[in-house]
Amino acid sequence: MAIPRFWREIPSRYNLIGTECGNCGKRYFPPRIICPQCHRKSFGKMKNVRFTGSGEIVTYSVIHNAPKAFEMQVPYIIAIIEFEEGVRATGQIIDCEVEDVKIGMKVSPAFRKIGEDGKSGVIYYGYKFKPA
Ligand SMILES: [Zn+2]
Repeated sequence: MAIPRFWREIPSRYNLIGTECGNCGKRYFPPRIICPQCHRKSFGKMKNVRFTGSGEIVTYSVIHNAPKAFEMQVPYIIAIIEFEEGVRATGQIIDCEVEDVKIGMKVSPAFRKIGEDGKSGVIYYGYKFKPA
């Protein structure tokens, strides 16, 4: 059974930790075990790096139909953010009206609730992004 990508990525969303290839220097977020460019050459050479989470919006979309755990937040904005370090990540934009979001807008990270599992009562936290 496949674990949904979103939940697999939770530890990196929590810490803003990615990896850097010790062979070519390319950085990844979420972290990768092997560099897709270097393959075997990167094996055992991937280092953890912590990103600032500050950057700008590359593109975004407004979500009107959310998965169950996110229903109360509709409509919300999901954006691809390019961090200062040159790495791109997907995240929710908060503290910003849907009509005010724009490409190139500067954002900074904010630690917030990401979702909850109603049955178990578990609440997940992680980084979202707000206008800088
Ligand atoms: Zn590499």
